[in-house]
Amino acid sequence: MPAAGRCPTRWWSSWSKPPGRDFSTAELLDLIRTSAGAPELTVDILRVGTFSFAAQIAESFRDRRVFLVGDAAHRVTPRGGTGMNTAIHDAYDLGWKLGWVLREWAPAELLDSYESERRPVGVRNTLNSAEANRDRTDAFADDLAGRLPHVWQAGDRLSTLDLIGPGLTLLTGPQGSRWHDLAAGLVTPLPLAVHGVDSVAAAAFDIGAGGAVLVRPDGQLAGRWPSTVESSDALQESVDAAIIGRSLEPAARTHSAA
Ligand SMILES: Cc1cc2nc3c(=O)[nH]c(=O)nc-3n(C[C@H](O)[C@H](O)[C@H](O)COP(=O)(O)OP(=O)(O)OC[C@H]3O[C@@H](n4cnc5c(N)ncnc54)[C@H](O)[C@@H]3O)c2cc1C
Repeated sequence: MPAAGRCPTRWWSSWSKPPGRDFSTAELLDLIRTSAGAPELTVDILRVGTFSFAAQIAESFRDRRVFLVGDAAHRVTPRGGTGMNTAIHDAYDLGWKLGWVLREWAPAELLDSYESERRPVGVRNTLNSAEANRDRTDAFADDLAGRLPHVWQAGDRLSTLDLIGPGLTLLTGPQGSRWHDLAAGLVTPLPLAVHGVDSVAAAAFDIGAGGAVLVRPDGQLAGRWPSTVESSDALQESVDAAIIGRSLEPAARTHSAA
């Protein structure tokens, strides 16, 4: 099955071939001209490359101080185009965790969550790439569920994503002043930034004017409070869970008012 892409002056074409079968230059020219529907087309072949149509997943993403990221951890077929995306998400997940541990903001235990968070995504994308007719309706369930939405903040072209800091970030609704006091009283080895957002952003976060969300450096929510609270207990619990990489299920991240 041919596929073709176009740079301003260069085109590429690709075909599946059985293992061990190589195309001669004459065969390649014929394939290209047939695909283009132009039997007389002048063609300069600049480069010919091959890659294996493979779907493989590593049994483990970590061995002591060595972490597997990207194609070293999971090889997908080009079907669906998820190889690079999955690789970048791996590095995004691991990077801030290494940063926290090296700064002694979190115990080494946090690094265990790299495999538990990323291998399910790798398994799913590997399987999806291997099967042409696989149901992909769950495609974003593992890696995008619970991620902070982007919302411009009025007047200054600042995204809610720009508010996320290197430690944990608490984003409060427009009437969330109480959260500043609660955050100031927490015991935490890492920076906890607190910012207020407007009512549009609060609605996108599914919180009220007095609510708040706790966000990891990669934008994953570590806690959600629909309205203001009196005690900092639940906030402290969510901070502690994030620091050790304990994955809270989406439902458990939402705390009712107390
Ligand atoms: C034809 C094709 C189309 C694709 N299309 C898409 C797409 O549309 N969307 C998408 O998301 N993904 C796509 N991918 C997949 C994507 O290219 C890979 O998943 C991605 O490049 C993996 O990144 P990586 O950094 O893990 O590995 P790589 O990009 O392979 O990088 C590894 C690097 O390590 C170097 N290296 C290897 N051994 C050593 C060594 N011993 N010492 C030092 N350096 C070494 C290599 O030279 C290489 O530069 C496609 C892949 C192919 C082949």
